Amino acid sequence: MARRRQLYEGKAKILFEGPEPGTLVQYFKDDATAGNGAKKGIITGKGVLNNRISEYLMQRLAEIGIPTHFVRRLNMREQLIREVEIIPIEVVIRNVAAGSISTRLGIEEGTRLPRSIIEYYLKNDALNDPIVSEEHITCFGWAGTADLDDMVALSLRINDFLCGLFLGVGITLVDFKLEFGRLWENDEMRIILADEISPDNCRLWDTRTNEKLDKDRFRRDLGKVEEAYQEVAKRLGILPEAGVRDLKGPEAVQ
Ligand code: UDP
Repeated sequence: MARRRQLYEGKAKILFEGPEPGTLVQYFKDDATAGNGAKKGIITGKGVLNNRISEYLMQRLAEIGIPTHFVRRLNMREQLIREVEIIPIEVVIRNVAAGSISTRLGIEEGTRLPRSIIEYYLKNDALNDPIVSEEHITCFGWAGTADLDDMVALSLRINDFLCGLFLGVGITLVDFKLEFGRLWENDEMRIILADEISPDNCRLWDTRTNEKLDKDRFRRDLGKVEEAYQEVAKRLGILPEAGVRDLKGPEAVQ
């Protein structure tokens, strides 16, 4: 069987040429990195879980009218996506202080922010993904003002929706990172949600205990990393206990 052409390999995913023009296959690896590759490891089963979690969240977002690159899941580790031109900006949305905002600004981890904050980081490993402002983004042409307006509007809707969705299963959405891409249809360009949404790029805390259920368990050597990813999938009702026929919906938490 002819091997598919690999187009790109990132830290956690590989992109292959898709079956039709304008599509790609996104493969989820078990590899985990932190600190821009300084710490490396394997989280067994992570790729399978992130493929499912991201599928589930992108499908729910599509239901409220958020345009996403997700087309369909192909198998345990792969999904078919629409090919977009990735905007080289990571959009971080924060509801509770944690991670870099706590260290940079001295705000105690766990402090609920008076309102959601949006930050931008330049996707550039050589520069360690520096934080940038709207001025930098438009001045250097990484995205235009209209693109940014769309990205902010989508990010805020996604945040509100996901905060509610996770709260329903006893999880606080502390912060998360989104990536967007440009999709051309005829002569029209649209900004759509790309990449993935998973415990790799969200901070998810148990609402009752504040136990971390995300990649911070790996970054900070807290142990039970695989279990945390499984717990998120389980609460969302997408971890089949006895195969794919056993899929349940999300379980409400009192
Ligand atoms: N994040 C990410 N990729 C990055 C940097 C951050 O997915 O390259 C996510 C991270 O998982 C967290 C949020 O963005 O949910 C905010 O991360 P932060 O700026 O606090 O950086 P960190 O502490 O992870 O270095």
